[in-house]
Amino acid sequence: MKSSEKKISDKSGAAKKSAGTKSTAKKAVPGSSLLQKVKHEDIRVIGHDDVLRFFSQVYRDHHLGHAYLFLGPRGVGKYTTALALSQLWLCQNPKLDEMPFQPCQQCADCALWRVRAHPDLIIMQKPEDTLEMPIESIRNLASQLALKPIRCPRRIAILDQADLMNESSANAFLKTLEEPPAHSILILIGGSSREQHLATILSRCQIISFSPLNKADIKNYLRQNGEIQIDRIEKILELSGGSIGRAVQLSSDPFWKFREELLHLLATYPVPGLQLGKYWLQFVQSAGSEGSKQRECAHVTIQIYIDLLRSAVLLAVNGAQEKAVANSVEASKIKEISMRYTPDQLLEWMDQALRADFQIDAMVTLALLIESLADSLMAS
Ligand SMILES: [Zn+2]
Repeated sequence: MKSSEKKISDKSGAAKKSAGTKSTAKKAVPGSSLLQKVKHEDIRVIGHDDVLRFFSQVYRDHHLGHAYLFLGPRGVGKYTTALALSQLWLCQNPKLDEMPFQPCQQCADCALWRVRAHPDLIIMQKPEDTLEMPIESIRNLASQLALKPIRCPRRIAILDQADLMNESSANAFLKTLEEPPAHSILILIGGSSREQHLATILSRCQIISFSPLNKADIKNYLRQNGEIQIDRIEKILELSGGSIGRAVQLSSDPFWKFREELLHLLATYPVPGLQLGKYWLQFVQSAGSEGSKQRECAHVTIQIYIDLLRSAVLLAVNGAQEKAVANSVEASKIKEISMRYTPDQLLEWMDQALRADFQIDAMVTLALLIESLADSLMAS
């Protein structure tokens, strides 16, 4: 053990920087010289100052609770915030003179956290090949959380996609929530609303609500993280619903190609429903083999579909094209749709699409959902 400690103080830049505190330093990090070679996995929380300030205050006042449930729109930064908080709570020398508080980024715990190898951080995610959070994952989480912390005063567990717990996995979790180990902090990453969770879970967690991000924050993020075509930005912000995750998806070319093709098929008369349904489903399936990826993709495509119909309704009712319509080809196709169908018909399709969007999370088969949207286009 001694030799590994020496190695760390010799080779680790982080250890050198905190040399003044070496006598009080925690146990050495086995293999931490390797950690220096691993690409840093720093993260940045966009927005949510209110949440970060709240947690800074309860941390300062030693009032951290045992179980928090994060609720808010998908892709808005709930998981990122949980990760950032876990670093702060594991850090040996957090900067308490900044608000919100920041981890030091220098200590061995920060280094371990950065490579997601901190022994007191447990992250539980749903296996890729299941639609629901299996009971085994919950039991595994509970047994890990029950162990004493290895390096820090506390163990932190993040349960991602907690809204995908079924009744039996939620019930298996109740005992941990009712009698949490004294040293534990649990963060459940939930869905967008309370209705997606059992009352027994809701009543045992402190609920932290995440608001959609404002457009300026999303715009800044997109600009800092890649090239965005200027004529797309307004539409992306509008469709993102305050979610960075969704804005990033919408910035990618495949979604714009999908939008173009969907608009083309909608403007074709009669609408080739079979072709449209098949194309739509293939696009959603191309998002990946994992069910949740396809479902998220389905959400985005339905938003795109609703938006196209909405543009046609606005044109039919107001007689004016929206500012956010990208180009003249798009404008002429939207005009064709607005002239061919009554506003009532377009609104009915929008209503049906909204219901389909809601059903995606109720685990309805995606093929059925998309098929029924395409069928109703043919029926008109
Ligand atoms: Zn630190």
